[in-house]
Amino acid sequence: MPGLTVDTHFGRLVRRWGLTQQTDPVKVEADLAALIPKSDWTMFSHVVIFHGRRTCFARRPACGACPLTRWCPAYGEGETDPEKAASLLKFELAPGAALPDPLPGPLPDDA
Ligand code: SF4
Repeated sequence: MPGLTVDTHFGRLVRRWGLTQQTDPVKVEADLAALIPKSDWTMFSHVVIFHGRRTCFARRPACGACPLTRWCPAYGEGETDPEKAASLLKFELAPGAALPDPLPGPLPDDA
């Protein structure tokens, strides 16, 4: 059965992305359920939680090495220097893989 898993990572990230302003997990779930197709709830939850564990940390998100940089309204809340940000990531790239070079970077102000 599909479900949205509103843990601490999920709530923090969806608030950073501006998808909800709520802090009550039940209200967060209701807001996101209205935005995400039900068939995607389970995988969306997994991906958001992994991103919170690996990149978008509570205290010091690795913004400069984040693939969502261009679209994230909270870009800059954390480390924006690409090399310093990459050193914060909590996962290992697959053998032979590398971070995109250059990293996506923020959108220009007029975009
Ligand atoms: S740009 Fe920063 S705040 Fe936004 S999702 Fe990435 S790590 Fe999190």
